[in-house]
Amino acid sequence: MDRRKFLKGTALGLIALSSPISISAAGEATRLVPKRGRLNLSFKPYELKLRHSFNLAKYSRTTTPDVLVQLEYDGIIGYGEASMPPYLGESIASVCEFLGKLDLSQFTDPFRIEEILAYVDSVAPNNRAAKASVDIALHDLLGKIMGQPWYKIWGLSPEKAPNTSFTIGIDTAEVVRKKVDEAAPYKVLKVKMGLDNDKELVEIIRSKTDRPICVDANQGWDDKEKALEMCHWLAERNCLFVEQPMPKEKIDETAWLRERSPLPIIADEFLQRLPDVLRAKEAYDGINIKLMKSTGMHEAYKMAVLARSLGMKVMLGCMTETSCAVSAAAQLAPMVDWADLDGNLLIANDCFDGMKIVDGKVTLTDRPGIGVLPI
Ligand code: MG
Repeated sequence: MDRRKFLKGTALGLIALSSPISISAAGEATRLVPKRGRLNLSFKPYELKLRHSFNLAKYSRTTTPDVLVQLEYDGIIGYGEASMPPYLGESIASVCEFLGKLDLSQFTDPFRIEEILAYVDSVAPNNRAAKASVDIALHDLLGKIMGQPWYKIWGLSPEKAPNTSFTIGIDTAEVVRKKVDEAAPYKVLKVKMGLDNDKELVEIIRSKTDRPICVDANQGWDDKEKALEMCHWLAERNCLFVEQPMPKEKIDETAWLRERSPLPIIADEFLQRLPDVLRAKEAYDGINIKLMKSTGMHEAYKMAVLARSLGMKVMLGCMTETSCAVSAAAQLAPMVDWADLDGNLLIANDCFDGMKIVDGKVTLTDRPGIGVLPI
């Protein structure tokens, strides 16, 4: 049996098993009858349960709302996902409302990526995670039709994928020590900062390991002098870079810091989509690309190319999300300096098998599309 027939058969089975259902913002379920030769979109809400409560400078939480998406074309299914950490301003209701407005059955050729995604983008402003879910499902679908993973379609070399960092959130000393033990397989750690005990957190980690640390201040340092002092202190303790040290609005202060910091300064909350890369160049050494901000893989790839051409560093991040969106992001990993793709490891109810971290490194396989199988 050739690959396409096999995939088609598998996918048809999945349709029968999973009975694609669309849930509207009002919670009404609609069973879909896929139209042949058309793109058929379905989606359902899914609550991600976190292994540990997630504590950042500005809030804490134990779950993340999520919407799982399927895009079907002639019996082949592409999978996508929208993950909505609260600070992004999207919710299950807003994502379902946005997806409910889309009429993708108007498209008979799934390879018209530009046309399809321009249409999705035009339906309403913002809604970046909702748009990403369709983009990811479309890439998965196309990769399956072509029988190739996206890193190959983009011509990337999988051995160039970097190590991924493992995030140690703000927590009690006892929990931080436990998390450092859990992170034993990872060669790079990432710490979330922006509270009063930032140095204490690094000291606790340094009492257990010398592994390099990526620092994410999540806009937590208001004062540029204090931020600079922290950058020097962190540089002496084998830290690699500082992500979003200051509030995103403080562009001049961040530029001042970038001129003086011994560590690269990376934009995260400051930047969302492609046009933001040029703005980031004014105050930052590099950018953190996340699919839920960039509206998916198509624009994320363009952002990485643009940032590289501007001589900027590129980091690839994620939200707390299943292996679906993490594996989609991983297809870009060979293009970036640093990867922070641990979102799937932070949840207890992952519903996809996908990208694996082997010996601390993002490891890409020959599975087509985004490289996932539903569990
Ligand atoms: Mg960040």
